[in-house]
Amino acid sequence: MSNVLNTFVDDNLQQLRDQGLYNEIDPVEGPNGSVIQVRGKNLVNLSSNNYLGLATNDKLKKIAQEAIEKYGVGAGAVRTINGTLDLHVKLEEKLAEFKGTEAAISYQSGFNCNMAAISAVMDKNDAILSDQLNHASIIDGCRLSKAKIIAFNHSDMDDLRAKAKAATESGLYNKVMVITDGVFSMDGDIAKLPEIVEIAKEFDLITYVDDAHGSGVTGKGKGTVKHFGLEKEIDFQIGTLSKAIGVVGGYVAGKKNLIDWLKVRSRPFLFSTALPPGDVAAITAAVQMLIDSTELCDKLWENGDYLKAGLKKLGFNIGASETPITPCIIGDEKLTQAFSARLFEEGVYAKSIVFPTVPKGTGRVRNMPTAAHTKEMLDEALATYEKVGKELGVIF
Ligand SMILES: *Cc1c(COP(=O)(O)O)cnc(C)c1O
Repeated sequence: MSNVLNTFVDDNLQQLRDQGLYNEIDPVEGPNGSVIQVRGKNLVNLSSNNYLGLATNDKLKKIAQEAIEKYGVGAGAVRTINGTLDLHVKLEEKLAEFKGTEAAISYQSGFNCNMAAISAVMDKNDAILSDQLNHASIIDGCRLSKAKIIAFNHSDMDDLRAKAKAATESGLYNKVMVITDGVFSMDGDIAKLPEIVEIAKEFDLITYVDDAHGSGVTGKGKGTVKHFGLEKEIDFQIGTLSKAIGVVGGYVAGKKNLIDWLKVRSRPFLFSTALPPGDVAAITAAVQMLIDSTELCDKLWENGDYLKAGLKKLGFNIGASETPITPCIIGDEKLTQAFSARLFEEGVYAKSIVFPTVPKGTGRVRNMPTAAHTKEMLDEALATYEKVGKELGVIF
């Protein structure tokens, strides 16, 4: 190893360890369901994005196995050579139906989707108005495009309007885009899409909504854009296939001409191998389940509301979430980490999230209830929260 690299890596790792910021990863020893096994211990799982329990759904497992039998384990090529299987075409038709758009295109991940889609339409002569709390993959996708990035204060519509006006009137940019998460993952709040659309119309902005945490959750499962009835107004509807849908991948849904353009200009579509057949078959069936029934989504909200009410009653600060995402805001970073560690010892897996992922002094344990949790599991989690909360002086 190069001496320079060796020193760089060792010094920086040591610094992180000294600050208590080095993240040790505990492997899960089995399925990532409502109860998981870690270090040989069974825990109520409040940290997955498996919102509807589909990652471990028996019907989907069987469908994936059948597709693997028929097509094999890999797609064999990038989409534009001969990696496009009839399964991919079916999936994309299903995604367009699900999102209420003319067409859709799938990618290997939600992260990859943002790498692909933004730079396919934006370049150094353009500007992007980006919510300050947007996901890391949106930020990286914006950077990759080389467009001027103009951050606006989180969900602050006055700030957005002022910056949209300044950017469009400056004459400096060919195109201006506004980009936002649909649901913000750390606080569970929903983007103000009706106001964003209004501002976009006023200044002819391109609209881009990454609804990774909304699809399967908001809008009776159809997502945040549908929740507001704005399917015809949002240019880019981005989603992930790895959270509520339970498998892996990402997609853009929109007008047919836009999707046709992404098929010839988005680099991960052209230069990275297509999603594997077993996954594609399972995803298509999962999307069909969401089109056919709101049962799992209803159950998710019921469980989310139950957990929220319970934590609030115990005296915890659960922030201003509008979705099942339930932060339990503790504040001090070290106390937050100690809290999460004690929950683990008592049989609840809920990860601490601290600076720099969230602002300093707003450390939190983030709870992700799912449709697969039973009332008994949630009651067990609440009893544990009460015990640990009193022990560490977070509640009285
Ligand atoms: C989780 C997330 C992603 C990444 O999705 P993956 O499919 O896991 O790569 C992208 N954007 C947002 C807003 C997310 O929350």
